[in-house]
Amino acid sequence: MRKTTIEKRSFLIKITSVIILFVLLCGVSFAKPVTVRVALLHNQYAVKISNSNGLTAKDAYELKKITKSPKNIVVKVYKGKIYVNKIQTNSKFVYIVSKNIHHTTYLNGVPYRGYYLVGFNNRGRLQVINYVSLEDYIAGVLGGEVSSRWPAESLKTQAVAARTYVMYKLTQSKDKVYDVVNDTGDQMYIGVRGESAKFRRVVKQTSSQILTRGGNVICTYYHSNCGGGTSDSWNVFKKDRGGLTGVKCPYCAGAPNSSWGKTLYTDTIRYRLKKNGYNIGKIFSMKPYSKGKLKRIIYLEIKHSYGTSYVFASEFRRIMGYRTIKSTKFDVYPKRYITYRHTKKIAVSRGGVALTSSAIGGTFRSASKKLQVPTYFYFSGAGWGHGVGMCQWGARGMALDGYNYKQILMHYYPGTKITKAGEEKN
Ligand SMILES: [Zn+2]
Repeated sequence: MRKTTIEKRSFLIKITSVIILFVLLCGVSFAKPVTVRVALLHNQYAVKISNSNGLTAKDAYELKKITKSPKNIVVKVYKGKIYVNKIQTNSKFVYIVSKNIHHTTYLNGVPYRGYYLVGFNNRGRLQVINYVSLEDYIAGVLGGEVSSRWPAESLKTQAVAARTYVMYKLTQSKDKVYDVVNDTGDQMYIGVRGESAKFRRVVKQTSSQILTRGGNVICTYYHSNCGGGTSDSWNVFKKDRGGLTGVKCPYCAGAPNSSWGKTLYTDTIRYRLKKNGYNIGKIFSMKPYSKGKLKRIIYLEIKHSYGTSYVFASEFRRIMGYRTIKSTKFDVYPKRYITYRHTKKIAVSRGGVALTSSAIGGTFRSASKKLQVPTYFYFSGAGWGHGVGMCQWGARGMALDGYNYKQILMHYYPGTKITKAGEEKN
């Protein structure tokens, strides 16, 4: 009897050892499933969430159930309180959960997978955060960022870049209510509306794959079209983010916005800059400064009636509007000059000593001169987007030329390595 027990035990030990060995040899890892928190709505008085299989509302802190299982839940804010289907709560945040988190649940009629956290923002209104599994999130990003008609290899690059980007953001957002927003502030995420069988296939084929450098997940910026060459991250973000360096990109030639033009009135430029804190007078000239062979502008030198100002090109783009100045790769041409009388106070010397305009007790005279100043500037540019990391149209071009997704990723993110999510250091 005793012998049998020992035999059984040793048999179990052997079996367990074999399983462990098998797992180690196959490199199978049981990484924790990753959930992404995506901010969908920010300033609402009421939201409606629907699922035909029923929903549960729970207080986010105590996890107490607020309702049974209605198909529709309306969350409202009234006089500083959250109401769930007219039931007053003392909750600041509530979870609205369906029976299966991979199934579709509608937010104000728009379908998403996962579940929702609804709660106060800092203005006392409601914000809605979608909790969605990493791979479901990536399918929804593909739908927002690229066309399913693009070659599969370029869609795979997009899946890996989008997955890496959000994994990087997860390392930065631990103390925040959400990890990413659902627009170009991070990545365009449109939930179930964007999914297609082809996107689902691509997500599965690249499942868990992310890019790392030295074992660390990197911030894989990407953009629509680089206009012939990508940019060092420092030139755009004023700091080195993810060690991304500019590379040549002949693959996006002929893509939408490969070249663009925009006219801006001098007064409009001045008004917008002043509104953003720049002390700018009447603008006389604008001169772009670029660096390196790729001709991406680093900053603009603006001469005006108060002096000279320098504006970082990506900041200029933000102030004028990302759809107005589509990239930081542009030339500026002054147009239609008019005569402008520029008046300046000049300090007059006293007792043979030259005074500055700030000198106390000095006397001044006004000196004016006529200047020819442009009424507007014409911007002639190339590409769309910040220009850092992968060029989406370039990735499409490389795929059409026969490169596979790994080769494409290595072109735009040189020095990186494809790793499984969960095996990175940070
Ligand atoms: Zn390109």
